[in-house]
Amino acid sequence: MATQAFDSLDETLRRKLEKLGLFSDFDLVLHLPLRYEDETRLSPISEAAPGNTVQIEGTVIGQEVLIRPRRQLICRINDDSGTLCLRFLSFYANQITRWPPGTRLRVLGEVRAGFYGMEMVHPKCRVVRDNMALATSLTPVYPVTAGLPQRTLVRLITQAFERLRRKQLLQEILPAAILSACQLPTFEESLSTLHCPPAEISLASLQQRSHPAWSRIKFDELLAQQISLRCHYHQRHSQRAPALSQRSDLRQALLEKLPFNLTAAQHRVAAEISKDLAQPYPMQRLLQGDVGSGKTIVAALAALQSIGHGYQAAIMAPTEILAEQHFRKLSSWLAPLGIEMGWLSGSQKKSLRSQTLEKVTNGTVMLVVGTHALFQETVQFKRLGLVIIDEQHRFGVGQRLALRMKGGNEGSIPHQLMMSATPIPRTLSMSYFADLDVSVIDQLPPGRAPIITRLIDNNRREEIVARIREACLEGRQAYWVCPLIEESEALQLKTAVATHETLSQVFPELKIALIHGRLSSDEKSTIMAEFSQGEIQLLVATTVIEVGVDVPNASLMVIEHAERMGLSQLHQLRGRIGRGAATGVCVLMYQQPLSAVARKRLQIIFEHTDGFEIARQDLLLRGPGEFLGTRQSGVPLLRFANLEEDIGLLEIARNAAEDMLRDHPHAAQRHMQRWLGKREDYLRV
Ligand code: ADP
Ligand code: MG
Repeated sequence: MATQAFDSLDETLRRKLEKLGLFSDFDLVLHLPLRYEDETRLSPISEAAPGNTVQIEGTVIGQEVLIRPRRQLICRINDDSGTLCLRFLSFYANQITRWPPGTRLRVLGEVRAGFYGMEMVHPKCRVVRDNMALATSLTPVYPVTAGLPQRTLVRLITQAFERLRRKQLLQEILPAAILSACQLPTFEESLSTLHCPPAEISLASLQQRSHPAWSRIKFDELLAQQISLRCHYHQRHSQRAPALSQRSDLRQALLEKLPFNLTAAQHRVAAEISKDLAQPYPMQRLLQGDVGSGKTIVAALAALQSIGHGYQAAIMAPTEILAEQHFRKLSSWLAPLGIEMGWLSGSQKKSLRSQTLEKVTNGTVMLVVGTHALFQETVQFKRLGLVIIDEQHRFGVGQRLALRMKGGNEGSIPHQLMMSATPIPRTLSMSYFADLDVSVIDQLPPGRAPIITRLIDNNRREEIVARIREACLEGRQAYWVCPLIEESEALQLKTAVATHETLSQVFPELKIALIHGRLSSDEKSTIMAEFSQGEIQLLVATTVIEVGVDVPNASLMVIEHAERMGLSQLHQLRGRIGRGAATGVCVLMYQQPLSAVARKRLQIIFEHTDGFEIARQDLLLRGPGEFLGTRQSGVPLLRFANLEEDIGLLEIARNAAEDMLRDHPHAAQRHMQRWLGKREDYLRV
């Protein structure tokens, strides 16, 4: 049979393949079956047990069309051992005449106990011709798309496999030492087993993807990912960045002015960062710390180290409220040291903005704080030494990259510190984040009273209202978080406005304000300042306050319709309170009936306050998407390996990647090329 090269396939066919993510011969051979059907043997009807999928051969003994309960075709067949009923809920009119009594049918399907005895619903049926042999291997079932039937896909995959084999592109790449350490079949052997499994193979081990052939594919995939991440790690070390050693005089001056002492964890991570900054290649470090663990001061120390050498620093935050708060806090710490700071946001006045821009360009401003407005083209730094990105998972790869490229002086790249309160479970930090160095603040500042979480049914609002009134009149402050309405921002705004009105009537004696994303930055910052200074007692808010907001005196929070929110969002919101001396109380109001997942989420957030544990549970509940955030677009996702189940393979792959890069760099390159091809380009975070 003539086989066409992939590139010369018919245009419509190619478009269909692209829908399945198949762009090359290699993609085709890695398009692996979803499941298999066993057409290698026949079961007697009497031995077919309910729940099993089996193949049976029998003779048609009669057919009838029933009208009730709905129109359906019933076809009975028998063999020497018994009778089986085939039931079709949709069928062609000619199906009855095509299968007259006496026709021999070979059917494959799941057996169940039905009203008419043993039955199969919509089995796969073939009329038996003379000497129709049984299959010699299991029949693969591939993921397909409309207009691309299984048999076409089977043919294309077989052809692609042959072509690659002839071009010797399926050869073993892994060095013998690695192969013998992991004891897996060769790549080609594994592919051929998976596409065409011999009849005697364990079907269960294929379906559960635990067969060694599957392990080999997953291992290769993980290995490619690890090699690519390690390559980036090494590449970074060959780039240049300003070596900014510690200036202990400045550090000391800042620490002496603080109203608190750093925790041991803060000291440790600050030292790790400080050491990186002193290297002549760019730091790329992720600073993780639960909400309230005190990442901002660590960022300030890093900025100071850069500024101390005459290199500017920039801090980017995902929301204006947060950026503004950083600006105020950092000014209070750094202005006394004679450091001039600048503020940039998308909505600030033109004149102010251009003034700041000029000072950034001529180097008067040494520390710039802002939103994503920071990486726009008009922003030109004199000498940028350090980029700090708060809540990094909120930004896209492109945005972070753009800011880093701003360094661009004399071929050197600024150092980069990313901060996140969303903890990354170990499996993810070993895989998707393996090109970064990670520091963890695993300790909260002392004196924090634990937060009390209460789950309260929506119909007990009255009680909550009474408690809030009492607390606010005693001088405490509270957040009232409006429900998340994902479908419509406009509707969410309306709800927030209505909630504010209602609460203003309910609490005539309190000063209440409303904050949401649509306010101008001036309005937002006025409200936040008033709330910080205690002039506002109750702040009605949308989820804009979710990240970073830090008002220690606010110790109460009511979250409406908590059942609609995700775990990390609830954890972040709750992290806004319990920052001061008073015990934080977080009331999660929910509306019955609760879905099973919502119930589980509320239970988790009720039982745990540790962000790592919550994240781990979230990973189990939802898979890795959330944690990767926008990083997803930058890192090739795993198609075959599953991080939770394949942690053992991941560990082997990680070591193998280092070994290969050191001892067999050429093979490492070829392996990465085989798996990532063009996708590798994305990986320039
Ligand atoms: P996050 O890690 O969530 O960004 P912040 O940096 O906003 O946390 O810090 C939370 C609060 O704790 C702030 O008010 C900060 O000033 C305070 N803080 C930070 N470090 C300490 C410390 N070592 N002791 C006491 N308070 C601290
Ligand atoms: Mg923060």
